[in-house]
Amino acid sequence: MEISFFGAAGEVGRSCIMISTNKTRVLLDAGVKFGKHEEYPQVEDNVAKKVDGIVLSHAHLDHSGYLPHIYSTGYGGDVYATKPTLELTTVLISDYMHLSAPQNVTKNGLKSFMAHYKAKEYQSEFSIGDMRFRLIPAGHILGSAMVHITDGRTSLLYTGDTNVAKTKLFDGADLKNINADTLITESTYGLATDVFQKEKDAAKLMIASIKDTLRQGGKVVVPSFAVGRAQEVLLLFDDYLNSGILPKVPIYIDGMINKAMRIHRHNVIYCRKELQSKILMSDYDPFKNKNFIAVESKAQRAKITNSDEASIIVTTSGMLSGGPVFYYLPRLAGNPVNKMIMVGYQAEGTLGRDIQEGARKIEIDHRPVELKMKVETYHLSAHADRPGLESIISKVNGLENVFIVHGEKSKSESLKEYAAKRFNANVPAIKSAYTV
Ligand SMILES: [Zn+2]
Ligand SMILES: [Zn+2]
Repeated sequence: MEISFFGAAGEVGRSCIMISTNKTRVLLDAGVKFGKHEEYPQVEDNVAKKVDGIVLSHAHLDHSGYLPHIYSTGYGGDVYATKPTLELTTVLISDYMHLSAPQNVTKNGLKSFMAHYKAKEYQSEFSIGDMRFRLIPAGHILGSAMVHITDGRTSLLYTGDTNVAKTKLFDGADLKNINADTLITESTYGLATDVFQKEKDAAKLMIASIKDTLRQGGKVVVPSFAVGRAQEVLLLFDDYLNSGILPKVPIYIDGMINKAMRIHRHNVIYCRKELQSKILMSDYDPFKNKNFIAVESKAQRAKITNSDEASIIVTTSGMLSGGPVFYYLPRLAGNPVNKMIMVGYQAEGTLGRDIQEGARKIEIDHRPVELKMKVETYHLSAHADRPGLESIISKVNGLENVFIVHGEKSKSESLKEYAAKRFNANVPAIKSAYTV
């Protein structure tokens, strides 16, 4: 088997890996990279358009956003993923096309990619050419999968993005009985010091801080990815509202989060059993808490920012690269009583990362904005921390080779040091290829 790395090499973004045998070539993920400007995987169009299939680990655009481009160059094959991944990908890609209008994407390409969806259930095997595939729950977001591949001689596990910890939505990656001689693992939080407290403990601290702001009549802005963190945070709010710990203030939900919530509700069978029984076997639906209010118009946004009621606003985009958060921030940033709470990963080169690292004089839509509001970060991450990544590496049976991707260079290198003690470990460079 040959493995070629076209992206996510010493970076987070543009995940795209090609697995080939003599007869078959398959892409694992086809993502874009967001930062000050967009970057694409380093794969030639006429290589990508000739692959025999594309398998998606999950819907996030750093794994799926390059699909419309590949279909526009004439690729006519299928894209394989779980059903919720295909649905969420459609939502995220249509929003992305609308906001970014990337070059070289044709209307036909877009249509063609939706016509080639092949939904696959977790743990059921399927073939592409002479390779057999199996999707395994990855615990990262709705429908997210690790991909197991074998050609009869070599077997490989690609983690995609993964979380081994239990969250409100998922049980964590399913690492039981995995045999693979080669592992391609993410390393978003690969540093030896990336050790997170339990989600429960982080949530308690976050809620205490939010209560503090609400008590003073302030507004709390929670920038969030449309898929994943937003639902996790809203389920936490639902719990704390029901127990009376969080005061019953309006919780405004703005951006694609609302659409993604609907997809979560009708795919709840892919979530934890506890959440399934809540939604399917009782009248209570935590996604429909009475305090959740969908923001549907500009006038409504203006009303929210102009009023002096205490409230919480959960809105896209998670890394402050655009979206409705750009409406709220300039209007709320000047008041030191208000607070911004960051809960998701902030990639290098994004405004979210700059702010997390202390920037307080920023620009939004080319206008200067001074952040007088408080800014705090709580790790409710959808990614495995370092001990989680180590547990993945140690649980795969028969492992020989470890390739470390989807992490900033220092994080990937740190995890490599750990893996190299027992295995042949590499942090692949972009456009590099290996035979296993
Ligand atoms: Zn992801
Ligand atoms: Zn990712």
